[in-house]
Amino acid sequence: MISFDNTESAFAYKTNKELKKANFLFSAMDIGWLVKAGTRLTPWALKAHLPINGLLRNTIFKQFVGGESLQETAKIADKLSQYNVQVILDYGVEGKEGEQNFDNAAAEFIKVIQYAATQPNIPFMSIKLTGIIRFELLEKLDAAADNKSGVEGRINIDVLDADEKEEWQRVVNRLIKICEAAQRNNVGVLIDAEETWIQDPVDALTMQMMQKYNFTKIVVYNTIQLYRHDRLQFLKDSLVEAQNKNFILGAKLVRGAYMEKERKRAAAMNYPSPIQPDKESCDKGYNEAIEFCIEHLDKLFLIVASHNEYSNLYTTQLLQQKNLPLNHSRVHFSQLLGMSDNITFNLAKAGCSVSKYLPFGPLKDVIPYLMRRAQENSSVSGHTGRELQLIKKELQRRGRNK
Ligand SMILES: Cc1cc2nc3c(=O)[nH]c(=O)nc-3n(C[C@H](O)[C@H](O)[C@H](O)COP(=O)(O)OP(=O)(O)OC[C@H]3O[C@@H](n4cnc5c(N)ncnc54)[C@H](O)[C@@H]3O)c2cc1C
Repeated sequence: MISFDNTESAFAYKTNKELKKANFLFSAMDIGWLVKAGTRLTPWALKAHLPINGLLRNTIFKQFVGGESLQETAKIADKLSQYNVQVILDYGVEGKEGEQNFDNAAAEFIKVIQYAATQPNIPFMSIKLTGIIRFELLEKLDAAADNKSGVEGRINIDVLDADEKEEWQRVVNRLIKICEAAQRNNVGVLIDAEETWIQDPVDALTMQMMQKYNFTKIVVYNTIQLYRHDRLQFLKDSLVEAQNKNFILGAKLVRGAYMEKERKRAAAMNYPSPIQPDKESCDKGYNEAIEFCIEHLDKLFLIVASHNEYSNLYTTQLLQQKNLPLNHSRVHFSQLLGMSDNITFNLAKAGCSVSKYLPFGPLKDVIPYLMRRAQENSSVSGHTGRELQLIKKELQRRGRNK
């Protein structure tokens, strides 16, 4: 029986000083108004060149980001490997538009793949397609998509003008280069899911790449956001499509990071929200998606990307019920760096294949990622309580054992 209550294993990799810093940070994130004000003011303060870099670097950046450069991630990756925890490398730069930036990002992704191939515990890297594609181009393609475009890998480029068609071709070429490098180097590419109003062409392109590269081994993985009420069906349809086209489905299951934004936009633009009506339905959808994947492990690869204790535990229970090993070669677990160490390290201790998602990049370029983490861990989302409780429990245990 796996338990996520063992804080000694969870935080063994953190020194007392690091744990006290985490205690301070999560206590601060427990103050709702502070997070609200911080997430609004930080991007502005950085633009205005206010001297807050040092503060950010020593607090939230250190907790959730692996470093400013690829080289800087090595230290933390080495440390994690001592506890059988693997790494998903993520070049976390966001919001940079322009062809030159897209080319640079694609080159950086390939560097990450080549680097991961030299490391014993980095089996995956992740990419956001908005790092190599203009957001508005995706929006235009999404608006022209029909219900089935995403799952069937169809992209209606007839709606683009001549320049945009060339622009799109450059995008496809970038992605092909990335996937080819990944295939050559035996590194998995996880394609992140983003906002619903760009997601159809992201899914379509990802399905195309899976069809191209996932025939004998699995190179490309799509991300399925179960906070959307249509995604359990999407997962099922994706598997039918994969079987029809003879490729192996890579399915990374998440709940989803853009709930507030999605709901706000739907309300403002007067269309039905794509998000599940409540947390309970979201959890139900997520756990049913796990069940579906475990039932079809001969045809797909499952990544449980979640901080939800029940969902992680449930996956291990389903494996045990089916007499499948906890370290099944087609099941992987992952949590973000700086969150839910109790899940990661206890899963690793039980022999599961588990990783930390390790973003890296210059401080100013990973701010959107950091702001999402602050919101996710604020008292509003209800996550901090659990995290803080575990950190305090471990500090007390260490205090007693001095
Ligand atoms: C390795 C990894 C990769 C990730 N990649 C992506 C990605 O590509 N795209 C992406 O969008 N996210 C991604 N995430 C982020 C992830 O979406 C959030 O960390 C996740 O939603 C938090 O949920 P949880 O599964 O940890 O469980 P919990 O903490 O139990 O659930 C919280 C989540 O439930 C949902 N939720 C909360 N309240 C409600 C409600 N009232 N109604 C409906 N739903 C509700 C929201 O999605 C919320 O984030 C990734 C996470 C990990 C660990």
